[in-house]
Amino acid sequence: MQTFQHYIDGKFVDPRGGEWFETINPFTAKPWAKIARGNADDVDMAVKAAHRVSSQGPWASSTASERGALLHRIGDLVAREAERLATIEVRDNGKLMAEMLAQLRYIPNWYYYYGGLADKVQGAVMPLDKRGYLNYTRYEPLGVVAVITPWNSPLMLTTWKLAPALAAGNSVVIKPSEFTSASVLEFVKLIEEAGAPAGLVNVVTGFGNEVGKPLVEHPDVAKVAFTGSDATGKRIYAAAAQTMKHVTMELGGKSPNIIFADADMEEAVNGAISGIFAATGQTCLAGSRLLVEDSVHDAFLDRLIEKVRTARMGDPANMDTQVGPITTQPQYAKVLNYIDIAKKEGATLVIGGEPGRRPECGDGWFVEPTIFKDVENRMRIAQEEVFGPVLSVIRFKDEKDAVRIANETIYGLAAGVWTRDIGRAIRMTEALKAGTVWVNTYRATSFMSPFGGYRQSGIGRENGAEMIKEYLQMKSVWMNF
Ligand code: NAD
Repeated sequence: MQTFQHYIDGKFVDPRGGEWFETINPFTAKPWAKIARGNADDVDMAVKAAHRVSSQGPWASSTASERGALLHRIGDLVAREAERLATIEVRDNGKLMAEMLAQLRYIPNWYYYYGGLADKVQGAVMPLDKRGYLNYTRYEPLGVVAVITPWNSPLMLTTWKLAPALAAGNSVVIKPSEFTSASVLEFVKLIEEAGAPAGLVNVVTGFGNEVGKPLVEHPDVAKVAFTGSDATGKRIYAAAAQTMKHVTMELGGKSPNIIFADADMEEAVNGAISGIFAATGQTCLAGSRLLVEDSVHDAFLDRLIEKVRTARMGDPANMDTQVGPITTQPQYAKVLNYIDIAKKEGATLVIGGEPGRRPECGDGWFVEPTIFKDVENRMRIAQEEVFGPVLSVIRFKDEKDAVRIANETIYGLAAGVWTRDIGRAIRMTEALKAGTVWVNTYRATSFMSPFGGYRQSGIGRENGAEMIKEYLQMKSVWMNF
């Protein structure tokens, strides 16, 4: 069995407490590697190393162009190692190889983009209402950034934080999910190869309470960049407040994907399917509530079911597999439990609703792609994040009704609208309370485009040029002459 140690101050090291835990391949449901089980001492070592790097020595005095060049080298190395990194994440997470390869070929863009931005952050000279003074602003790094990520997309979600954090001149301690720690530990080898100083990027693996909590509470951490569940996000936000840390929170969602009768039906069916079933439904932006206009509801559902019926489940390492396993055993149990809840609430199961027991599923944690109709928006299945391949179909009468239903949620991460009426499209983009609204598409994201949530889906944004400032603080300098 492979072993993965912490990566602290440029070295792979055993956990201080001498404890390890196993990480499981969700396709075989068997352990495949041993991971260091961190504690507060490991966290302290990593934060001290990161703090040293961001406060003294060559990184603290690096020029923006030098940081940009480092990020470019990291991007090149990720591109070179895309297949190897993809293989690890497929094994540890159960993500489809085809999805993972596409993701890893795209990830270098974050390093190129923020590398290019590093030397384009500028302060300003103020015109002022006083004579004899010069006043200007400059942007400075925050210091040590804690990057805490969930299990559903380890490398991608680490990258969204790491690239702008480094471009801005910070140092980083990464705490990956206890369910998927391996890929990021392979990835940091590339950062070392790219020429990063020891201690610039550290990885401490382990559990939320044992590693995440002391990391968030550490006085030398200046910012917490978090992606995960809203429950954990609220705990971290409260803990970070004690030392007034900056936070970015990318949390859960229950996003509406809205089909109007005038939509291109073929495209909308495909958009509804990829909206919910990509990554086996384990994406924060999943279009898990499908709102369908009354007049096309039944016909649309028939087409949807027809396509879902032929979805190929099985080994995520096969390039033609369309539905992989659920990443973790607790999540598998949670998804099946929500299916029971939906049935008890009176939703009608139209397809799926069972564990995946096809021969090609082996011992893996599979759930058949599942669709419920007759869902009412007040039901738990329509209000709570399932984070699995379960779609709730809700009817609506007209545009006003669609907006009301779509916005009746505590979340606001994303929304999709399918219509050929340009006026309606514009009205909907204005009325929907969501950080991202897609029209006649779903799921598009880019390193250039801000992503984040309204309401309880989060605080702050990731991606896009402005977001480098989420990792900087502004200083105002006054001079008397
Ligand atoms: P989670 O909240 O259980 O865990 C996320 C991370 O937080 C893990 O690394 C965990 O160990 C750590 N953690 C747990 N308790 C902690 C504590 N007290 N202090 C510090 N760290 C702690 O989330 P998960 O189950 O791994 O991931 C699924 C969730 O992530 C879903 O809700 C999903 O919507 C969300 N998500 C959001 C986005 C987004 O961009 N908005 C993207 C992907 C996933």
